[in-house]
Amino acid sequence: MFFPASVASGKKHPASPKGEQKHTMHLVRFTHQGHEKFGLLRQEEVIVLGEGRDLESILHRDMDSWLPDMAHRNLSIPPSIPAGEARLQAPLAHPSKMLFLGLNYADHARETGASLPKEPVLFAKFPNSITGPQGDIQRPPGVAQLDYEAELGVILGRRAHRIPPGRAMDHVLGYTCVNDISARDIQTRDRQWTRGKSADTFCPLGPSIVTRDEIPDPHTLKIQARVNGEVRQDSTTAQMHLKIPEVISTLSQTMTLEPGDLISTGTPAGVGMARRPPAWLRDGDTVEVTIEKIGSLKNRVQGTPEWA
Ligand code: MG
Repeated sequence: MFFPASVASGKKHPASPKGEQKHTMHLVRFTHQGHEKFGLLRQEEVIVLGEGRDLESILHRDMDSWLPDMAHRNLSIPPSIPAGEARLQAPLAHPSKMLFLGLNYADHARETGASLPKEPVLFAKFPNSITGPQGDIQRPPGVAQLDYEAELGVILGRRAHRIPPGRAMDHVLGYTCVNDISARDIQTRDRQWTRGKSADTFCPLGPSIVTRDEIPDPHTLKIQARVNGEVRQDSTTAQMHLKIPEVISTLSQTMTLEPGDLISTGTPAGVGMARRPPAWLRDGDTVEVTIEKIGSLKNRVQGTPEWA
């Protein structure tokens, strides 16, 4: 279990100076006694708000229709369970789009020798790649170059169609940690990225969705990846090249972004591929993505047999 230090029990939610209601929450999906549920993670407990599949349908609706009510229920005294009894799942299960940026950190572009792009370098993953904070990363048979990428994930809470940068953040529900796992050998052989990036379990997500108002500036966060406890990536989201409002605005010019969609904003320096010699993930390794104010996402690498 991983508990963001900033989660405060019974925190009040005052209106912002603009009069906008604050909703500071850490939304989680979890399994408890064999049942999938969703709720809010606090320091020592999980507030139970409903069945797990309900969160999925809620996240696909405009946040204006549910976020204020959920914040209100957070302030009441709903049933709770000790956090240690909850097995966390990925907070998102079936986003309509999972959009990933390549080469979007200045330090990562430097280590790969590439120049920073003027427009987003975009690729997609599919929902089969999602796994949760307590799921294993399954190395497909024959893959020898398995790599990690710590990334800040942005979750949309409101439909975005041709939105100017100045209004883009109004469409953000919150943030989560993402590990953009890649099979570099498949990625190189295929000459495009879909198969090497979208294998089952190649997108660990979590531990929670931290609502936007808890992170006033998402471009000032420490971001790290550790493998077996050793720091491999150690940067800050200030290194992000195309900032979140610009990314949302640009993407929304050509594709309508829906509530529940995930945009993963690229990775900083220190990936296994760029190290000399390369440092690939091996079976039994644990890889942990930590982002300030959000939490930690720790997964173990596991080899898998050729035939199921
Ligand atoms: Mg990436």
